Amino acid sequence: MTLQEKDSQYLWHPYTQHKTAALPIAIKRGEGALLWDENNKEYIDAIASWWVNPYGHSNKFIADAIYKQLTTLEHVLFGGFTHEPAIILAEKLIEILPNNQQKLFFSDNGSTAVEVAIKVALQYFFNKGEKKTTIIAFDNAFHGDTFAAMAASGISFFTEAFQGMLIDIVRIPVPIKGREQDSFDALAKAIKNHNCAGFIFEPLVQGASGMVMYEPETLNKLIRICKENNVLTIADEVMTGFGKTGKTFACDYLTEQPDMMCLSKALTGGTIPMAITTFTKDIFDAFYDEDINKALFHGHTFTANPTGCAAALASLSLLQTQEMQDNIARVNKRHLEFQKHIESHPKVTTTRVLGVIFALEIQTETAASYYGSLRNKLYDFFIENGVVLRPVGNIVYILPPYVITDEQLQKVYQVVEKALEIV
Ligand SMILES: *Cc1c(COP(=O)(O)O)cnc(C)c1O
Repeated sequence: MTLQEKDSQYLWHPYTQHKTAALPIAIKRGEGALLWDENNKEYIDAIASWWVNPYGHSNKFIADAIYKQLTTLEHVLFGGFTHEPAIILAEKLIEILPNNQQKLFFSDNGSTAVEVAIKVALQYFFNKGEKKTTIIAFDNAFHGDTFAAMAASGISFFTEAFQGMLIDIVRIPVPIKGREQDSFDALAKAIKNHNCAGFIFEPLVQGASGMVMYEPETLNKLIRICKENNVLTIADEVMTGFGKTGKTFACDYLTEQPDMMCLSKALTGGTIPMAITTFTKDIFDAFYDEDINKALFHGHTFTANPTGCAAALASLSLLQTQEMQDNIARVNKRHLEFQKHIESHPKVTTTRVLGVIFALEIQTETAASYYGSLRNKLYDFFIENGVVLRPVGNIVYILPPYVITDEQLQKVYQVVEKALEIV
């Protein structure tokens, strides 16, 4: 049996209707921006394997750090114990995070990072004896698939089956260009009409909804409205973190600072699942008490796994090299060149670029659904041509590993341009 055949016997894949989906491609090997399947067909990973892998597949530097940690201390429980990798990682992150972020809580993935942030927002007010139980989130947000994260997510078919079982959310429009005031007004109204504990947002770029972008100035103002009204702000940087927007964090474009941040995905360079939620001291202090009931009773078995911390430390040091910063600037420059080339194409309605993120929207007669036929046609075309891209409805986005070569990028652009001929 091929790997594909064995897979379909035993495995259940994410976001997959197995009755209609093609069999998954069995990947045997990866290096840099490239992947090879069981038939040795080569693919360019133009979405960094769901945005986790900036430094390239099978990165030796990170692998060595992991090996060294595995043969020193692979894991120890974090309840009642601590270890150097977690402490050094915390020190290094606190150095580069917005300077109000002073406490770190470890978990396992983006959804749990968000879950922790939302639970903390709710318990923060509970601990102070205030009744605030609603969370504000953007339309079409994506914050993950666990229950609170899913509630905050606004892409409806992810959550349809669970309506009525989710925490209270009020949704406000995304402040895309020209609609900023709608967003400000909706936020003010939400705060006035509900007992809002927190506002969660993907700063500057909404990833899963198709790299929808909005301006730092607008987010500054939304955060200010929250601060004036004692609503905690949560920047979900799970996608945007660690260089994707051209700065280390999307929040680095802001003058305001969020109360909490969620980090995962590229945190460990795409090697070991790990996440961190970060907090201001004020938030930590609301849980710091003689009363045990005021503690945060949340934890995961693998909290602060030392091997994950070692992978994160190695990743961070790669990010901070001049070479990697040059790569980010280079990918951005190529994107801007391609944007100029493609934006007037008759099938293209809009394009957008921020950092290493490029997106274009394809003209369609009817609204394209998230996993609709246009999307599937495009996806199949890209795969046939050896490029891994996962369009969202009629939106094609590129978010490559920073180490992708110019030649590989040109191939990705060419395949995207060719795809416009088949739609
Ligand atoms: C991917 C993502 C998540 C969820 O992360 P998982 O590791 O898949 O649970 C949360 N928020 C944002 C912004 C994301 O892009």
